[in-house]
Amino acid sequence: MRFFLFAGSLLLAANVSASDGASRGDSGIFGPPYATLLTLQSELRSEYPSLVTLQNYGTSYEGRPLQLIIAMKENESATVRTAIVMAGATHGNEYLHIEDRLPAELLRLSRSDSSVSRFLDAGGVLVFVPIVNPDGYERRSRYNARGADLNRDWDVPPAGYKGFKERESAALSEALEQLRVVHGLRYAITVDYHCCAGALLTPWSYTLEDLPEPQLSHHKAIGDLARKDLGVAIGATGQVLGYTPTGTSKDYYFSSYGALAFTYEGSYKTEEGKLPAHLSWWQAMLDYTRENLFSETIQTAMSSLHGLNVDL
Ligand SMILES: [Zn+2]
Repeated sequence: MRFFLFAGSLLLAANVSASDGASRGDSGIFGPPYATLLTLQSELRSEYPSLVTLQNYGTSYEGRPLQLIIAMKENESATVRTAIVMAGATHGNEYLHIEDRLPAELLRLSRSDSSVSRFLDAGGVLVFVPIVNPDGYERRSRYNARGADLNRDWDVPPAGYKGFKERESAALSEALEQLRVVHGLRYAITVDYHCCAGALLTPWSYTLEDLPEPQLSHHKAIGDLARKDLGVAIGATGQVLGYTPTGTSKDYYFSSYGALAFTYEGSYKTEEGKLPAHLSWWQAMLDYTRENLFSETIQTAMSSLHGLNVDL
């Protein structure tokens, strides 16, 4: 078994409880009311009417709207659209004040010659889900209103694990699948924002087994970009955190779509000051995706390597 570990993650593993991730969860960063975040999303839609669409994909148990943002240009010639997904606050108390601001910052760059405009002009698609768990966000809780951990509620076929018992995760997975079918998306990269291990975690979550190639190398490349901008430790979940949770969204995105799938674990209290570094990392990721992952052949090869059918 080969792991890609760096010195930082070894130090980190020693300091993190091996059995329970909840204790290090709270980010110490507080955001505005959820309704305010929805208003900001509406403003984004007004500001970029030809680029941005908002999609309401259901409601939480406490009746809050579940909403995602899609940014894509008309592209008649593209039958397959390469997409990157960002999600935040799956654990409501791990909000970083990055996941709600990053969409606006990236979209602002779409107006000039930039990594963002080049990605979108080439047919790339951005999907942002700033707050996956609005009830948990409002309650400042890891869990949803029913007390469920949404990052243990995703299907992981290779583990024989059935998730989607909770409304928020089931609705999000259905919305993403629907977007995939309607727009011909191929999910190339997914980034879930969490707190507070100060690390970029790669699949698998549920096992210590290594990834096959070429996925391992692509994950490492994205990890190197993150390390450059954000100085985080990089590694598979079990190696960095010291435990192997089943039912994470990362394992779902990787196993179901062949996406390069990451959990970004921010730093307690300080992460919100790192927005420029996140922006820089995202631009590097968009360039990497456009240069290395746009080809349908590459993505099909990546997906089929683990025997999964992601054909449209
Ligand atoms: Zn978390």
